[in-house]
Amino acid sequence: MKDTGELRSDEGLRGELRALARRPLFLALLALAFVEALRLVLEPSLVNLLGVTLVGVVAFMFGRERDEVSGLEGSRSEAESFARILRGLARSVSPDAIVDAIVEELGTGTGADHVAVVRRRPETRNLEAILSPTRAGAPASRTTLPLRELEDPLSDQAGADLAVASVRGRRLTAVPIEPDPDGDPDLVPLGIARTRVASVDGVAAVAEADSAVATLPPRVRRAPQATSIREGADQRIANRIAERLRDSYGLRNLLAAPLRVNGRIEGAIVLSRRLDAAWPESANRFLEAAAVEASAALGRVYSLREAETRATTDALTGLPNRRYFDEYLGLLARRRRAEDRVGVLMIDIDRFKRLNDTFGHGVGDHVLRDVAQAIAGAVRDDDVPARFGGEEFAVLLKNPTPGVAIEVGERVRRSVAQLDLRRMGVPGVSVSVGVAVADESDEPLDAIIDRADQALYRAKRAGRDRVVAA
Ligand code: GH3
Ligand code: MG
Ligand code: MG
Repeated sequence: MKDTGELRSDEGLRGELRALARRPLFLALLALAFVEALRLVLEPSLVNLLGVTLVGVVAFMFGRERDEVSGLEGSRSEAESFARILRGLARSVSPDAIVDAIVEELGTGTGADHVAVVRRRPETRNLEAILSPTRAGAPASRTTLPLRELEDPLSDQAGADLAVASVRGRRLTAVPIEPDPDGDPDLVPLGIARTRVASVDGVAAVAEADSAVATLPPRVRRAPQATSIREGADQRIANRIAERLRDSYGLRNLLAAPLRVNGRIEGAIVLSRRLDAAWPESANRFLEAAAVEASAALGRVYSLREAETRATTDALTGLPNRRYFDEYLGLLARRRRAEDRVGVLMIDIDRFKRLNDTFGHGVGDHVLRDVAQAIAGAVRDDDVPARFGGEEFAVLLKNPTPGVAIEVGERVRRSVAQLDLRRMGVPGVSVSVGVAVADESDEPLDAIIDRADQALYRAKRAGRDRVVAA
């Protein structure tokens, strides 16, 4: 973010220099106006009147030029802000990085003092909202909203046959069913017969496009109706999310745009500012464009995550696979500190070949799945279970004493033995478990796994369905 800071102070400096250069011109113009006015007062003549008029015209042109230059500067800094957003998004490989990439520039491009990014967390059942001040360095705060906020409030409420919807600008807006005749002249009442019109809290809105388009008055028909009505649902959801944030954070003046990832509404970006004046159209444009780009970036991150998960998850059992386990061990080896203890369980299903032969491979697969679940349920959240290969599993235990490691092994053995497999006609299944805990803090992880493997072998030799420690 260092480069943006420098860029911005550069822009500021240039602006100040320009203002400084204009000052003598402005003073000269003022002096000239004074002299011309004095001459007209002392000697009212047509020539002197012409002099005053000419000075007025020059002053007017001067003002126009200044407005246009500052307008140009505004749109240039908007374009620069947007370019920085695009650069930041292209580099983002996580949702948090996406939030970081847009927050500050949205503040610069729109004048917002807070930006909230609300999105569905793929792994949870709720929406996460991150509210960040656009001032660099100020801390963000997080909250969650229920997932149902992503449902269109109108979609499941087909209501009356006849209602009134209205059009404000390019967007279809919900209005009271009986609009106030002295109300907002921008709202064009629009009769819609036999279409799916829903009523929510005394408000009517169009849920379906076609028939609504047919009855739009000519002035409105020029708008790209079909898309604006479809977007209307997304915008309604974004607006409602904004209202929820207003309730949670006591925000004031809000502007919201939906986040639509892979064709599905996934959340919203909400801008907030303390200033009560209406948001300028440029802020709306900027936010909408940023939301489209952020949506695309989120889509890329989600696809990447999915691919990674597929590559590291065992398709049959849903447990991490051998590849994930090995990568995890690699990371752990690098981060391990002297006082960190590590333990490993190696688990193998007893006489599984016989089970397959007796009940068929399909039943074998089901049993494998149930055993995997029993193992995952018997270890703590911090431990890492994995399908090591075939009918063999491994569990990495974090900071166990040798006693605890054996206890966890025993818990695994018991929960597999207690599996009820009778629905598949299988009376039961057992596992043998080998346990090893690092004897010195620098014992390589491979060596610990080897010792757990040898312990497993001894468990098999000793009669199976038991836990043996190395
Ligand atoms: P032991 O008690 O000594 O471990 O005997 P075992 O029969 O379990 O051991 P063995 O290594 O002889 O056989 C393992 C069997 O596990 C053979 C293989 O068909 C079966 N197996 C491995 N992966 C799968 C799988 O994904 N699905 C099914 N159904 N069976 C599998
Ligand atoms: Mg086996
Ligand atoms: Mg085996």
